[in-house]
Amino acid sequence: MRHLAVLLALVLAWSISAHATVPADCWALRKHGHAAEARACFETLTRSDNAYARAEGFWGLEQWQPANEQFRLATQSPNSNDLYKVRWGMLLHERFNDVDAAGLFREALQKNPSNARAYVGLAIVSADVFDGKATEYLAKAVELDPKLADAHLLAADLALTNDDRDAAVAEADKAIALESDALSAMAIHAAVELLADRSPDAWFAKIRTINPHYGEAYTLVARQLELHYRYEDAVTYYRKALEVDPRLWAAHSALGVDLMRLGKEDEPAKELELSYNNGYRDKATVNSLRLLDSYKNFATFRDDSTVLRLHTSEAALLRPYMQVEVHTILATYEEKYRMKLSGPVQLEAYPDHEDFAVRTTGMPGLGALGVTFGQVVAMDSPSARKPGEFNWGSTLWHEMSHVFILTATNHRVPRWFTEGLAVHEEGERSAEWEDRLTPEVLVALRDKKLLPVTQLDRGFAYPEYPTQVVVSYFQAGSICDFISAKWGEEKLLEMVYSFAKLLTTPQVIRQDLGLAPEEFDTQYLAWITQKYGNQAAHFNEWREKLKALVAAAEQKQYDTVVQQGPAILAMYPQYVEDANVYLLLAVAFRARNDAKAEADILTEYEHHGGESPDALKRLAALEETAGKPAVAIATLERLIYIYPVKDEELHQRLGDMLYAERNYDGAIREYNARVASNPVDKAGAEFNLAQAYFAAGKKDKAEETVLAALEIAPGYRPAQKLLLELQKSPAKPE
Ligand SMILES: [Zn+2]
Repeated sequence: MRHLAVLLALVLAWSISAHATVPADCWALRKHGHAAEARACFETLTRSDNAYARAEGFWGLEQWQPANEQFRLATQSPNSNDLYKVRWGMLLHERFNDVDAAGLFREALQKNPSNARAYVGLAIVSADVFDGKATEYLAKAVELDPKLADAHLLAADLALTNDDRDAAVAEADKAIALESDALSAMAIHAAVELLADRSPDAWFAKIRTINPHYGEAYTLVARQLELHYRYEDAVTYYRKALEVDPRLWAAHSALGVDLMRLGKEDEPAKELELSYNNGYRDKATVNSLRLLDSYKNFATFRDDSTVLRLHTSEAALLRPYMQVEVHTILATYEEKYRMKLSGPVQLEAYPDHEDFAVRTTGMPGLGALGVTFGQVVAMDSPSARKPGEFNWGSTLWHEMSHVFILTATNHRVPRWFTEGLAVHEEGERSAEWEDRLTPEVLVALRDKKLLPVTQLDRGFAYPEYPTQVVVSYFQAGSICDFISAKWGEEKLLEMVYSFAKLLTTPQVIRQDLGLAPEEFDTQYLAWITQKYGNQAAHFNEWREKLKALVAAAEQKQYDTVVQQGPAILAMYPQYVEDANVYLLLAVAFRARNDAKAEADILTEYEHHGGESPDALKRLAALEETAGKPAVAIATLERLIYIYPVKDEELHQRLGDMLYAERNYDGAIREYNARVASNPVDKAGAEFNLAQAYFAAGKKDKAEETVLAALEIAPGYRPAQKLLLELQKSPAKPE
């Protein structure tokens, strides 16, 4: 009933004087669903003799340009109210210009350092990009003005993104206590209910009584569902938002993006175009439309359990590798997790990292290399990254673990656990793929920055320091390693089932591990400290010694490198990144012509997960020279996972070695990859492939391929000879 009173008061106010109309009243009318009255109210404002009031009026009428101009006018005088700049910033934020918005909030703070609303503005901008500063800004805002409902509302939203549901509810209640019509705070409540699989109806009913057309409530809920991996449910709520408010362009756009994540194309195109054409052109909308348009450059390959979407420029090369890998993963996980997926899994590989990044817009802590949306996996193609920077194989095993765990839990799983398990699975597949103990992890260990398990989700969504996301991946992964080591691999599966039953992290730890969460933290910390504590404690010393070693290597003081290298290596053997001791030693041994020592140190490097293509190729050459072709082949095959693109020579070398070992299927695979690599000697590449087919007894294929070689180079003698030979012996039925 309160809104009626507001309305009556307003009507009364208008009849007295148009100048008495204040912006807040017009916004209140809008918030309470009185669209026509709100419109009239905003129109009145546009006729005010006060520029600020006119700005709010045009804003309310969605006349962005005039609103912008009036704000400029209103803030011209150095004595203008600092609130005007905050409001102007909010308008710019609404119109997708966060850079200028943040600038205005800062200007307002320069003028008035205790402007709490300016801090809320900064927090809103930070939260949108998950840069981790939002909480800090909010704390400032609340300190300056504890009665600011918007601050508590945003705090509630952030808490829920971190899956801290109790804090979300508490903050939402504070907002409601301050403003009985805090509709978005009620929506937070509804989201919490939905995430816990309880009915949100009571909260939606409350919202509807205040404003039956408040679509933003459903959008907020949908977005939280999306952030909790519940993409299908999010679609439902975006649709509900549009039912009550068909002009909610933000919801049209978000629905389009969400549907794209689920692998759809036609409906997203329609929704995104609709928002775009109505002026809603934020980054997500524009980039998603661009991505949809670029799909014409992709080829789709389907079989009974996979859909592969690859760029046409590299599809012929990547498809065989990726298809085989997905099938291996499916078979492995089906057995391990004792389940089958209900439909085909879709894998998309993007050679342009920007295209892949679009897939993850608006998702926190994700998207470094790959991302999973239900049964759709999107990732960088190896060609999107620098050679040696990215392993598509381990990324695919990681993402596919998400596919299974999200399915097994019906998308009810905390972020730390699904990430931790996915990281753990990489290490299960190959010790060389184990999550790296990187310098930032060692520093976090040294500085005791690991989070309690019940708060680990926070480290993914709103990191408090720049490397916290990386550290949190490592921590989550090593927590799963710890559980597997102490309770057995089966225990992880048990936990999956418990999360599926909607148990929370503290409940799962109590029930499945028989420990209080605090006790679990203590045991895990003891375990990880025993493993790496020494390395962490000596990190600074190691870094100084490494610097000196690098300097010695640069001076070609190889004796020093060989003498001092091993001790430095032993201090931190997991370090395989830039300027690592392995490669410094390898160079020194090579300079001394000590092939055996060079091969040994490169082998150690390889086994610790070193992935420099040049180093691994050098190792393969040494292994081959040492008469170990099988080992050399295994070394080169690692490179297929690292950088199989733009490397004709790799495929030829590996093909030749496999051919020499009479592994003809392997040779065919590699020679095919060479043909697909756009080789310099096309005819020669086809001819090698024909030879491998011939050796494998696949005469039809051999003939087809040798003809391809002759088409390129009709006078190519060896190919002519092979064709004759093929024609002499009639093709066997295969
Ligand atoms: Zn992941």
